[in-house]
Amino acid sequence: MRKKNFFAGPSVLPLEVLEEIRDQIVDYNGEGLSMIEASHRGGMFEEMYDECLATFRRLLGIPEDYDVYFLGGGATLQFAMIPMNFLLPGKSADYAKTGSWSNKAASDAAKIGCVNVFFDGKESNYTTLPSVKDIRPSEDACYLYLCSNETIGGIEWQDFPDTGNVPLIADMSSDILSRPVDVSKFAMIYGGVQKNLGPAGATFIIMRKDMLERRNDNLPAYLDYSLHAKNKGLYNTPPVFSIWAVKLVLDWVEKNGGPEGMLERAKRKSKLIYDVIDSSSFFRSPVDKAFRSRMNIVFRLPSEDLEKKFVAEATEEGMLGLKGHRSVGGLRASLYNALKEEDVVALRDFMLDFEKKNG
Ligand SMILES: *Cc1c(COP(=O)(O)O)cnc(C)c1O
Repeated sequence: MRKKNFFAGPSVLPLEVLEEIRDQIVDYNGEGLSMIEASHRGGMFEEMYDECLATFRRLLGIPEDYDVYFLGGGATLQFAMIPMNFLLPGKSADYAKTGSWSNKAASDAAKIGCVNVFFDGKESNYTTLPSVKDIRPSEDACYLYLCSNETIGGIEWQDFPDTGNVPLIADMSSDILSRPVDVSKFAMIYGGVQKNLGPAGATFIIMRKDMLERRNDNLPAYLDYSLHAKNKGLYNTPPVFSIWAVKLVLDWVEKNGGPEGMLERAKRKSKLIYDVIDSSSFFRSPVDKAFRSRMNIVFRLPSEDLEKKFVAEATEEGMLGLKGHRSVGGLRASLYNALKEEDVVALRDFMLDFEKKNG
């Protein structure tokens, strides 16, 4: 019996994808070798890779004047690469500090150059976001940076600021393809694939081509976006296995209604849990209702002892990954695209039952 997987990342994958990998891992389409044994300069990989990129473009409606490719190093490497490339000497970059991930990004950028924090959620303990209408980039900003979904705090931007000529850059690691997004509003969107798109190893990069003209040059090769763009992400060996699995996940997303279909699923699934939280005084959500994440639902119980008990009993029921991140405590249920609605119904029922017994 497969467990009900609420892990925040790496996280649940569609069963169909795992089965396809199992069936194909030794002998890919009768070619007599595995995809993970093949050269990334060969036809077998390239055909799969091209399809992967084409499907990603189709699903997100990525315009022609954007490059799309995958890198290694996780989303974390991008915290450094973005300022190394785009934070020009004597200028600044605007950052929203909305939780753990954007704080890390801002902290790396501050080591490279001048960072202007235009929003800091610290006072609210990172439970709310700014209103997008009030956001104005600074005069000398090279770009404006935000994290669309704070995976640890469970807080998600519902819409995005209009930054005019200032490039908007977003970390969408944990909500990519969970909803439609107007890519043309962004100069760059990136994220680790291990939340919503596949197994760990690859980081997706979507970047408007003109960004390459406003970057610092003279960077070491791997850290320079222009080399990756010029080589379609194949400057060096890409994370082949991860990309193959991402390709299969993208096919699955397309078969299941694309980003619109994923949004409908996410709305239904998150409502099941938020309804329980809202109709009880036993469960509590710390997050401003207007910005609640549909991917990562953070909640608390009346005491830490009860939270421990909740996790232990849920684990016995085959529900994994419900403990909150070690930096914030509490509980968290991650409801990524691939998580089945019936698994969320099971969690809902478990929550109701737990409240009855302990409330
Ligand atoms: C997981 C996560 C990261 C870090 O990703 P790594 O691939 O582990 O470097 C960064 N940002 C967000 C929003 C995340 O969810």
